[in-house]
Amino acid sequence: MEPKFATSKGLLETHELYKYIMENNVYPREPKPLKELRALTTTHPRAVMGTAPDAGQLIEILLKVIDAKKTIEIGVFTGYSLLLTALAIPEDGKIVAIDVDREAYEIGLPVIQKAGVEHKINFIESEGLPALDKLLEDPRNQGSFDYVFVDADKGNYINYHELILKLLKVNGIVVYDNTLWFGTVAKPEDSVPEGYRRGRTAIVEFNKALAADPRVDISMIPLGDGLTICRRL
Ligand code: SAH
Ligand code: CA
Repeated sequence: MEPKFATSKGLLETHELYKYIMENNVYPREPKPLKELRALTTTHPRAVMGTAPDAGQLIEILLKVIDAKKTIEIGVFTGYSLLLTALAIPEDGKIVAIDVDREAYEIGLPVIQKAGVEHKINFIESEGLPALDKLLEDPRNQGSFDYVFVDADKGNYINYHELILKLLKVNGIVVYDNTLWFGTVAKPEDSVPEGYRRGRTAIVEFNKALAADPRVDISMIPLGDGLTICRRL
């Protein structure tokens, strides 16, 4: 048994506390283009997929402290996390942005263009795995990336991880999104609605594998739908 702490619950117990953080610390600091992109996305039937602005703030700091220049994003959707990355990296920074859905990317593209950061983005319309395989074919890409954000195709997270470790430089960071899968990871499978079960199983397995992976440091952050930050050793 692990030693117990005095309080077993996290701090964020109430919706009021979440509202407090968002209204006081997140929304007032959210860059205008990101607000605009979020507003454009609200009417999309899959709007909930957009990265949470509070998680976005953490990612922004991460990108700046590691001075990320060469980056990859898998799972662009309408571009919230993509735009926040493009805004955070320097003028000569680059993002290989991969998604099977170019149409969703094009919803946010005018905002990205207006923000003056489109030149940092190389959008690739493709499944994530073959696109990473292709990057690895060029030896100059091996061990060269500063940062990767993975937010697509949850069933393949384990497979992405192997390829990403080859692409990342030592000390490079990979962030996996949705690693708490609507909180279902901590619930018995039969209590979880049918539609969440496949994702839940994949994420539970993935979290287990990461926790046992000696090639990375990890930190699981309960922001948004949960993100796991990994540093390549
Ligand atoms: N990061 C985005 C949200 C991504 S949602 C944001 O901040 O808004 C997940 C995206 O993954 C969707 O746009 C979907 O088209 C894409 N996707 C799903 N399966 C994929 C796959 N196998 N390869 C690449 N992209 C995939
Ligand atoms: Ca996500």
